[in-house]
Amino acid sequence: MIEIILKKGKDKAAWQIHPWVFSGAIDQISGIPENGDIVMVLTIKREFIAYGCYSGESRVAVRLLEWSPNNEIDDDWWRKRVRTAVAARDMIFADGKTNTARLIFSEADFLPGLIADRFGDFISLQVLTAGIERVKAVIVDELGSLLKPKGIYQRHETTARAHEGLDVEGGVLLGEHPPTFVEVYENDIRYKINIAEGQKSGFYCDQRDNRLLVANYVHNKRLLDCFCYSGGFSLNALKMGAAEVYCVDSSALAIETLNQNMHLNQFEQNKYTAFQADVNKQLKKFRDNGDTFDMIVLDPPKYAPTRSSLNKAARAYKELNRLGLLLLKGGGLLATFSCSGAMDINTFKQILAWAALDAGKEIQFIRQFAQPEDHPVRASFPEGEYLKGLLCRVI
Ligand code: SAH
Repeated sequence: MIEIILKKGKDKAAWQIHPWVFSGAIDQISGIPENGDIVMVLTIKREFIAYGCYSGESRVAVRLLEWSPNNEIDDDWWRKRVRTAVAARDMIFADGKTNTARLIFSEADFLPGLIADRFGDFISLQVLTAGIERVKAVIVDELGSLLKPKGIYQRHETTARAHEGLDVEGGVLLGEHPPTFVEVYENDIRYKINIAEGQKSGFYCDQRDNRLLVANYVHNKRLLDCFCYSGGFSLNALKMGAAEVYCVDSSALAIETLNQNMHLNQFEQNKYTAFQADVNKQLKKFRDNGDTFDMIVLDPPKYAPTRSSLNKAARAYKELNRLGLLLLKGGGLLATFSCSGAMDINTFKQILAWAALDAGKEIQFIRQFAQPEDHPVRASFPEGEYLKGLLCRVI
């Protein structure tokens, strides 16, 4: 096995079970590893730290997998990790009200580079590293025998895979090709999901708990759901007795799917209005028309993909939230989210404070939102925490 020796003083994170070894931390390599090879990572004094997967073209040259020298990485090792991750999701499906969730969440489940989402009878895989690409058949076989899905489908990835020098297309890995729309349910609400073409993995299951929490506040209220995608917040709100909901998203496919989901759940057409529009522009229109709402959800895409884009993103979050707050009267509620890993909750609170000041409103934070249990945050990998939100009340 090829040995990767870390520079003096660059081994601390690896000792602390952090899964990433950056190329700059490497002192020597004992041979010429190929992308996806299992390698042994050692200190400058040749002490064993961990086994990992090599990715020569990535900034993260090794993704560490196993810190015990006796547990070599063979097929059984991968199968066991898959079983452990899947078993940890049992609770989500136990009440029979939900059949969609993330089964494997990459580093958080000690399977860096692998994301698996269950959509009813289908599983969607995202293979993001050379190491996972190599053991894909074993993973598919284990998921197949554990869950007996109708099909396992690999999504075609672009950015992350390009960094890994991977050029494998998506497609069917096991069983049937998913139909254009797979029907799933989450907390007894039905959704149509386009696994092959939808955004991300086709559905934002990371908002499952927050959709329920937000819906607790909407009875008889007028809700504005911004960045609504396929309608998760709106559908839960209508189920909990919202008077009417307004949904905004710039994607035509999102709005089309939302309309289908409304129909599927038999909500009357006079209860909701969907706008295919840019949210900031739509918020300004509402402001200019003097429209107000009782509650607003702001669930934008990732404004800060990296730490260096945080300042620019902070300004965008502030402007978005300012425009939202302008449409709320005293007692109105704003449920506002950030899925940027680089943005921590305290910075987000500060941004909300600025937005409120500029909007001429006084707000209270009455609740914090986080990612759900199928998106765990591993203590030794805090980077896995990305979704956060605040429920704010306008005084
Ligand atoms: N709230 C959704 C998930 C939102 S994901 C849910 O519960 O499922 C972010 C969404 O923002 C995507 O659907 C994307 O199409 C939309 N989006 C991105 N930029 C936008 C913009 N400028 N205006 C409106 N929608 C936008």
